[in-house]
Formats: sequence, structure tokens, C-alpha cells
Amino acid sequence: MAAGKKESGKAAARRTAPEEKLPGVDEARAAFSCALTPELERTRGFLRAMRREPPQLLHLEGGDAASRVALALWWAALLNCERDGDEPCLACSSCLRLGADMHPDLFLLDGRAGSIKIDEVRALRPVLGEKPHFGRRRVIVLAEAQSLGVEAANSLLKVLEDPSPDTCFVFTAPQRERLLPTLVSRGWVLTLPWPETGRELSPDMRTWERALARFAAEGRGWFDLSQARGALDAAAAQQVTLVGQKALADCLAGRESGELAALLRPLPAELLLELSEIFVECQDALLAQVNPLLALDAMATAVYRVVREGKRIAGAGRPS
Ligand SMILES: [Zn+2]
Repeated sequence: MAAGKKESGKAAARRTAPEEKLPGVDEARAAFSCALTPELERTRGFLRAMRREPPQLLHLEGGDAASRVALALWWAALLNCERDGDEPCLACSSCLRLGADMHPDLFLLDGRAGSIKIDEVRALRPVLGEKPHFGRRRVIVLAEAQSLGVEAANSLLKVLEDPSPDTCFVFTAPQRERLLPTLVSRGWVLTLPWPETGRELSPDMRTWERALARFAAEGRGWFDLSQARGALDAAAAQQVTLVGQKALADCLAGRESGELAALLRPLPAELLLELSEIFVECQDALLAQVNPLLALDAMATAVYRVVREGKRIAGAGRPS
């Protein structure tokens, strides 16, 4: 049903001359509104930092479904806005069409209404060989991609193996764990600020968080703790990586939380992106059965390196 409606929308958009029958600014803005909240400012900063060299596949997790999907559309607008600035104008013909899902280069496969079907995925394949019709980048959004069936996911993997430089995919899902690991490992993961309730750290995880913050700040203390926890299992190690991601999410949302978030707050968006990748890499290593302590030690060392780089940048920027 969604596909049929989509098809007629696309056909209509192609038949319509660009200056005719554009949706109104208010109508298009409504589609983006959940992406424009102050809470998501730092996440939008990540996307701005990536816009010149967008990843082939971007995962948006965390937050809620409305924010994830709105942010996927905002990303499509950022990549295609006719004014080509650091923010999509949300008023040009490209932005308006994207907001109204009438843009010929936007493919929104929407899993919110039911599972995304293999036929919808297959229908993408011939399109991918073509140049974008209207904008700079074709954007294929799989909204709530956790509803992909296994067959559809495998078909999508084949599509992704054959990348087209003009096409960017965005998957949204509550948590990356809800997607096939082979899909997740091919993309960038951005975590929207989590809804705030019930996310207090346990005392043990608070200990890890403090140790990671001190190590990142001063380069010491971490290995004493990790050596003392010689028998840490992979599940507990995953928890420690989530501590890092939670600190990152708190920092992005401007929430007061622990020492780690406070330490990360001054870092520029590019370095926060690097940290996000470090936590994801550690999680992938743990899934691939790397020794949990080795994986965590490598993660802590990488975090230390990024924070040190942040201090160097801040030092260089200070007037002498
Ligand atoms: Zn625009």
C-alpha cells in the first residue's frame, strides 16, 4: 500500500514542473519539525560534519521513531537543498518536495505501518543504476528497518554490495541490535539522545565510567581496573561500551550526567563522531569474540587519543 501510494506520488512529482504545485512551507516543515528540537542540535552537527562526504549507509538509533524518521528526511534535505548551505533551508523546491515525500530522488520505505517487503527492496535495484533525477543525491530511507524481513534484509545486502556513489541509505531503528549485524557493520551509527527515563547507571558501571573518564583525561587508572576485573565476560564488556554511548548521548543532549559526558562536552562534532565509531567498533569486536578485556583496553586507549586530540585543538585555538 505504502509502495503504491509512493509510486503515484513519484509519478506525480515527475510529471509536475518544478514550479508547479509545490507543497506549502508549513506542510513541509511539519515533516521536519521533530528533527529541529534543541535536543538534537549536536546530532544535526554530526550530520553537517558528514555532508560533504556522506556515508553510503547511515544508521539512526535512539530517540523515538518520529525524531529518527524526521532526522532522516532532514539529512536528505541537507544533502539536496538548492542553497547548499550548512542547514537545509526547508523552503526551496527540493526541501519542500522532500518534506512532502514528493521528491523523485527520495525513496521512503516505511516500516512503521508494517514490515518492509522484499518487493519494495527489489524495486530499488533498477533505480540505483540511474543518476539522481532532481537533486545531488538519491536518498533511500528505511524507516524503522527492524521490520525488514530476513529475505528483504538479504536482498538489501546485495544492493549495498554494489554501491552507487550518488545514493545514500539511511536506516532508522530503536537500537542497532534490532538489525542484522551484517547491515549494521556496513554503516555509520548515530545515536540520538535516548529518552531520559530509567537510565541511571549501576554502581559497577559508574565505576567503569569514572575510570574511563579519568583515563581519557589523564592517561592513567584504567588498566588497574581492567586488570582487577580479569574475568570480565562479553556481556559485561558490552555494558561498558553502552556506558560510553550513554555519556555521548547525554553530552549531545546537553544533559548533566557523569564525569565522562562532562569531559566530552567541549569536543567538536568531528571528534564526537570518532568516539561514536570507537564504541561501535568495540561492540563489533565483542560480537566477533575478541577477548573482552583486550577490546575494552583498545577502546579506552582510542578514547584517550581522541580526547587528547580535542585538547590539542582547543589549545591551538586559544589566543596567545
Ligand atoms: Zn532547501
